[in-house]
Amino acid sequence: MNAPAKVMVLDHPLIQHKLTLLRDRETSSSGFRRIAREISLLMAYEVTRDLALELVDIMTPLEPMAAPRIAGKKLCLVSILRAGNGILEGMLDLVPPARVGHIGLYRDPNTLGPVEYYVKLPHDLAERMVILVDPMLATGRSAAAAVDRIKQAGATNIRFVCLLAVPEGLDVFHEAHPDVPVFTAAVDRELDEHGYIRPGLGDAGDRIYGTK
Ligand code: URA
Repeated sequence: MNAPAKVMVLDHPLIQHKLTLLRDRETSSSGFRRIAREISLLMAYEVTRDLALELVDIMTPLEPMAAPRIAGKKLCLVSILRAGNGILEGMLDLVPPARVGHIGLYRDPNTLGPVEYYVKLPHDLAERMVILVDPMLATGRSAAAAVDRIKQAGATNIRFVCLLAVPEGLDVFHEAHPDVPVFTAAVDRELDEHGYIRPGLGDAGDRIYGTK
C-alpha cells in the first residue's frame, strides 16, 4: 500500500497576499492573470524544493569547482485546460526547459463529473517529475481523472498544484491517488451545490480569460 498523500498548504506571506488579491472580486481579468502568474512562480519554487541535485565540474572565472545542478531529466508540467494554463505560465517562467503536457477536461454541469476532450503528453513521463496544475481542486474528480491519464502514460512521480482546495475534494483525490501530494495556497471551507469552492475566488477560467 502506498504511503498516504500529503496536503502542503503553502503559507508563504507573498503567496497568501497574492491569493487574497485573486479572491477579491474587484481584481480585473488582466490583474488576475498577472497575479496568477506571479503566485504560481512562487508555488513552483516550493513544489520543486526537493529536486535531486548532482555535482558537475565547472570553471568559475577564478578556479575549477564541483557545483550542484539538477540531476537527470527534469520536469514535466501538465495543465488541465483551460484554467490550468493560468498557472502553467508562471511555473514555466521559473523552469523554462520543462516539458509541457495538456489534458482537456470539462465539467459536466449535471453530474459535475469530468469529460475528457483532449490529451497531449510528452513521451518520457516515466523519467520526469510531473507537476499537474489546475487552480481549483473542487470535487477532486477532474484532478483524479487527469492523474489516471498521466499514470497510464507512465508517470510515477506526480505532484498536484492548485490555488484552492476543499476538504471533500481532497478526500476524493486522495482516495483515488494516495501517492500524489497536493500543494495548495489554501484549503477553503466547502463546495456549494453548484460545485463552487466557498469562499473561493469564483470561476478561475472565467476570471483568467474574462469570459463572464
Ligand atoms: N472551478 C472553479 O473555477 N471555481 C470553483 O469554485 C470550483 C471549480
